[in-house]
Amino acid sequence: MKPANSILSSFGTTIFETMSRLAQAHGAVNLGQGFPEGLEPADVIAKAAEAVTAGPNQYPSMMGTPDLRTAVAAHDRRFYGLELDPMAEVMVTSGATEALAACLFGLIEPGDEVVLIEPLYDSYLPIIRRAGGTPKLVRVEPPHWDLPREALAAAFSPRTKLMLLNTPMNPAGKVWGQDELEFVAGLLERFDAYCVCDEVYEHLVYDGRRHVPLMTLPGMRSRCLKIGSAGKIFSLTGWKVGWVIAEPHVLGPVAKAHQYLTFTTPPNLQAAVAWGLGKEDSYYDGLAAMLAERRDRLTAGLERVGFQVMATGGSYFITADFRPLGFAGDDGEFCRHITEQAGVTAIPVSAFYQGGDVNHFARFCFAKTEGAIDEAVMRLERFFARIGP
Ligand code: PMP
Ligand code: GLN
Repeated sequence: MKPANSILSSFGTTIFETMSRLAQAHGAVNLGQGFPEGLEPADVIAKAAEAVTAGPNQYPSMMGTPDLRTAVAAHDRRFYGLELDPMAEVMVTSGATEALAACLFGLIEPGDEVVLIEPLYDSYLPIIRRAGGTPKLVRVEPPHWDLPREALAAAFSPRTKLMLLNTPMNPAGKVWGQDELEFVAGLLERFDAYCVCDEVYEHLVYDGRRHVPLMTLPGMRSRCLKIGSAGKIFSLTGWKVGWVIAEPHVLGPVAKAHQYLTFTTPPNLQAAVAWGLGKEDSYYDGLAAMLAERRDRLTAGLERVGFQVMATGGSYFITADFRPLGFAGDDGEFCRHITEQAGVTAIPVSAFYQGGDVNHFARFCFAKTEGAIDEAVMRLERFFARIGP
């Protein structure tokens, strides 16, 4: 048999799928894969159920239903003051994952360079490579996740087509500051590059801070493609409804990729998301407040167990250094060990890097019920008390 595509074949099964399967096999509390539990809004789900029965149930426009495109534009005006033409500057996709793929396939020409920050989300590199792009990686590392500005500037060149920026950042929980965004904006202008902005955690920012889209900085409106995900806004990750916002000249080529990837997204889910985006501010504030509480609950619990927990300003995740527990293996071994032996699953942070020595951190998802968080902490406390440091 002739070989399949060599680039995609070279990647294994994603770490999220692998760890969730392992969690299931061992009856572990799954704080690994980033999906929320117990936060799903009943009214948004009821709207989807109504829309399934009432229809329509046929292909909507490939750009998304007018209702959802209008709702996305209204959302971005409400929260960020962006003025968007919903019919020309918003495209609905089947999740942010598809939005990312459409942006990368739509913009990258073989040989183009793409600047990325590690740790990075798992779908970025396979798609960039498949599109013929050359990744230029810059690392931020725990405990502070500070941006090495010189290294970032050095990663740009006249061949840079785009940068991919994730804020708030998975798995670091880093919320990029205004000065860092301004620095990025300067580089994009200097090298005439686009920025694909993965902002799926835009509403999951804590401690009184607010999410700032790079697109709102001076000069950035025409360079940025801003990606959102209803999965994160409504804690309904299985729905896979996302979107891309960009000026028409940038969105055009991205739509060309989207029309051959998924073409469209279920109309009933689009209807429910369009309705949900209009929810009052208290919904959005309440979600962030609830998640901040869960973050604090899990942080305190992991600290009691003996982990050294890194600060998290946004996203669903905390990262924790397990060296104080005296475990003598790397992070992949640690996450497997606690799944099998303690009944708690986490994700090894090294899975978000291409090599290097960040291999003693585990990522825990705190978007879970209080019961699940307490149970996980209790299992870990019991387990590590037994084996000792
Ligand atoms: N980007 C980041 C940083 C993510 O963490 C995720 C997944 N949770 C996605 C994109 C994908 O989002 P979606 O489920 O909407 O495809
Ligand atoms: N984004 C989620 C995470 O980081 C997982 C998404 C997936 O499983 N593909 O855990």
